Amino acid sequence: MRFLTFLLASCAAAQVPTVDWNKERAEILKHYRSLVQINSSSPPGNETAAVEYLKATLEAEGIPARTFALQPDRANLVARLKGNGRKRPLLLLAHTDVVPVQREKWPVDPFAAVLKDGYIWGRGTKDDKDKLAANLMMMLLAKRRGVSLDRDLIFLAESGEEADPVGVGINFMVNQHLDEINAEFALTEGGGATLENGRVTVVNIQTTEKVPRRARLIATGTSGHGSVPRLDNPLLHLAAAVAKVGAWETPMRLNDTTRVYFEKLATISSPERAARYNALLNPERTAGVQRYLAEKEPQRYSMLRTSVVPTILKGGIGANVIPSEAEATFDIRALPDEDMSKFFDEMKRVINDPAVRIEPITGNLRPVAPPSRLDSEMYRVLEQVSKRMFPGVTVLPTMSTGATDMAQLRAKGIQSYGIGPACAEPDCTNYGAHSDVERMQESELYRFVEFTWNVVMEIAAAR
Ligand SMILES: [Zn+2]
Repeated sequence: MRFLTFLLASCAAAQVPTVDWNKERAEILKHYRSLVQINSSSPPGNETAAVEYLKATLEAEGIPARTFALQPDRANLVARLKGNGRKRPLLLLAHTDVVPVQREKWPVDPFAAVLKDGYIWGRGTKDDKDKLAANLMMMLLAKRRGVSLDRDLIFLAESGEEADPVGVGINFMVNQHLDEINAEFALTEGGGATLENGRVTVVNIQTTEKVPRRARLIATGTSGHGSVPRLDNPLLHLAAAVAKVGAWETPMRLNDTTRVYFEKLATISSPERAARYNALLNPERTAGVQRYLAEKEPQRYSMLRTSVVPTILKGGIGANVIPSEAEATFDIRALPDEDMSKFFDEMKRVINDPAVRIEPITGNLRPVAPPSRLDSEMYRVLEQVSKRMFPGVTVLPTMSTGATDMAQLRAKGIQSYGIGPACAEPDCTNYGAHSDVERMQESELYRFVEFTWNVVMEIAAAR
């Protein structure tokens, strides 16, 4: 019986050609550096230059690639390797734009992809040209090796992830070309891994994210001379309202992702920290723990609840003039299941002042979407490959407090997972995405491509 099970198990294994990763390094590095050297700072983006590079590279290998552009200089690229159709496609997504640079902060040219001290330096080295190069390599390797696939591999290189008031990137693709990119699963940025003494100890997989929502508080009163105090001075009402919202502790609520995250985090933390994470659901201790996190681990505190943070105050035109209006802007990051209209009702109750009204800011907002599942084939594969490549590793599902383009994919029912290369401290913090100086440890770039390949083959190669 055991023998039979073994036989069946090995028959069911994917037929994947082995890759000699040492031999692939030069090509990985070449594509990666070439992509970093294309200045696609957004605004303005000019992502079409990156798309042209990708298109030429793919087509030279016989992989057809199509471009979709709402604006000519901000094109998106889609390439597809066909599978046998037994399973629905896998989407490999990466963005081609990068955030701007302040050149004077850089010790090297931010668009030269300089190799120095074991790192590749440059804007986009971690966000997101590493995933872009990795996805390109997936297509090239799978094609060259003639891998037979149970599902199509779709590569989407999208524009406008970082700054896109018009919607040239994911919104354009999802709203107008969904057929080109629709998939069962997507892999993209948003995760990462922790490197300690050269060993990968934690792999973070992003399975959900908070939903950005904004609102303005507007206080109105009677304008007049600064020499005459008025009870309806809008600055007083606004200041009181901002203070009340600031002190408001919105309800704590865990979802599948954050519950597993804190449980597993406890298993790899010191006894003192573990006791704190474990006490989050203990009614007698939770308030104290939450206070502690608010002070010492604000990122984790934000994972517990919808956060409401004042970011702009405006009001007044002269020292001797009482203005008739003052306003405050709030950055709200909602839990994925938050009912915003109820939330604003509650906020109104907290402010409890008829002189202050709440105006939700609408516009190009990301859609609400349920978290990606932790019991899916993709999550299992991500866990298995992590454990195989990094013995002793802990895999943590995470909820980003920020937002990614997975929101749009999840809203269309595509189970999306954020992955990323490993980094060691202080490198993760000081040279990370959007930092003054961004850099990638060269060895981790190669390891990330290998990780991605193992995941892609496990989930997509024919059995
Ligand atoms: Zn990014």
